[in-house]
Amino acid sequence: MVSEEQVLEALSNIQDPDLGRDIVSLGFVKNLKIDGEAVSFALELTTPACPVKEAFRSDAQRLVGAIDGVGSVDVTMTAMAPKPKTGNDIDTLKKVGAVIAVSSCKGGVGKSTVAAQLARAIQREGHKVGLLDIDLYGPSLPTLFHVQQPDVFMRHNLIQPLEIDGLKTMSLGYMIGDKPAVMRGPMVSNYTMQLLRQTEWGELDYLIIDMPPGTGDIQLTLVQQAALDGAIIVTTPQALSLVDVARGILMFESTDVPVLGMVENMAYFECDQCSTRHHIFGTGSDLLKNRFGLDILAQLPILPGISDASKKSSGADIEAFSTLAENLHREIGKRRIDAEPKPEVTSIDGHVQIKWPDGKVNAIPNKTLRTSCQCALCINEYTSEAILDPGSVPEDIKVEGIQPLGNYAVAISWSDGHSSGIFSWEHMRGITATA
Ligand code: ADP
Repeated sequence: MVSEEQVLEALSNIQDPDLGRDIVSLGFVKNLKIDGEAVSFALELTTPACPVKEAFRSDAQRLVGAIDGVGSVDVTMTAMAPKPKTGNDIDTLKKVGAVIAVSSCKGGVGKSTVAAQLARAIQREGHKVGLLDIDLYGPSLPTLFHVQQPDVFMRHNLIQPLEIDGLKTMSLGYMIGDKPAVMRGPMVSNYTMQLLRQTEWGELDYLIIDMPPGTGDIQLTLVQQAALDGAIIVTTPQALSLVDVARGILMFESTDVPVLGMVENMAYFECDQCSTRHHIFGTGSDLLKNRFGLDILAQLPILPGISDASKKSSGADIEAFSTLAENLHREIGKRRIDAEPKPEVTSIDGHVQIKWPDGKVNAIPNKTLRTSCQCALCINEYTSEAILDPGSVPEDIKVEGIQPLGNYAVAISWSDGHSSGIFSWEHMRGITATA
């Protein structure tokens, strides 16, 4: 008779490529039953949209099927229930699996295009998706979806989303047109909150929120109230402002919203004669990776018509959109299981100590780390020349606070009043390697 140990041993050969561990130690195998020659179990993945789902299923079938004495293998694929949305008292979002904000530091970088096309790409994977456009400074859903001020209905005091080719949408633009809203702060915030709280989404796998650009009070209120599962920051090589990117990261992470990665829009132009990719504005992705340790989830081409999201099939021929959706699922999955060991960063005796997951410990003197700061106040972001004079940093500078930023960096506030620095793991590894 086949034993549980044999089955688990066979399954432990399946590695999760994103989490870097085998599926048995990750606790994915559930309900293992052995009845004579029949083996059945469930594989519970971090997200129903797990990109490697089918590979897991067939590997599990094959490996367990190859055990001596196994006659049949029944694998059920399930996914972890979304975590209860703590702090989210918004009833209309209670049945939404994941709420993702698409944000940008500046207007006009293609944030709405990314939000709409991401929603379509996830919808094409077979998920129920909603898209909420609360960019009051220029709501663009009406343009992207070719709908101009449609009738918006209320039912039991709740706003009914407009379904466009299977995608549930709501936009302030449906009510005020696609002109930027000229309103005072409190009015803007009332409208935004009303759309967020009172749109009846029903059951959704994903709600994508097209946020107003920037990091002001309205954005912060939204982030806090919506209990977001994650945020994506959209930028373009030509509008790449590192100060603003850092502000965006700090706004989300300070409210416990993980920044899942960045999207570089208008990253290149592909010549239709020679198919060469021309990065006409240069590329900011290496810089972003180095400075903040964040992954680029997708690089989008400059393409006329890329913003048309009016049909389910819109954007289906643009590979970067499906890559974006896949990478988003991966990042959400990683955060759900939280399996990636993180370095521990602490302040000890004039040093910042980093205990790496492999057990190695490094200590960087406070002054060395402070003067290596890569933020835009310390380094000119266009010329990369140093702005900070190391002599101006006190020898006995102290750490006043360390804030972990997801699994990529920490933000440190210093006794000289400086707090805009983000120190990525890569950056600190670099310092310790050369020390
Ligand atoms: P945002 O929401 O950041 O203001 P939008 O998505 O509304 O940006 O895009 C601004 C303008 O740029 C729109 O006219 C849009 O069609 C265009 N655009 C966005 N991304 C691209 C791209 N990759 N290629 C060509 N045009 C684009």
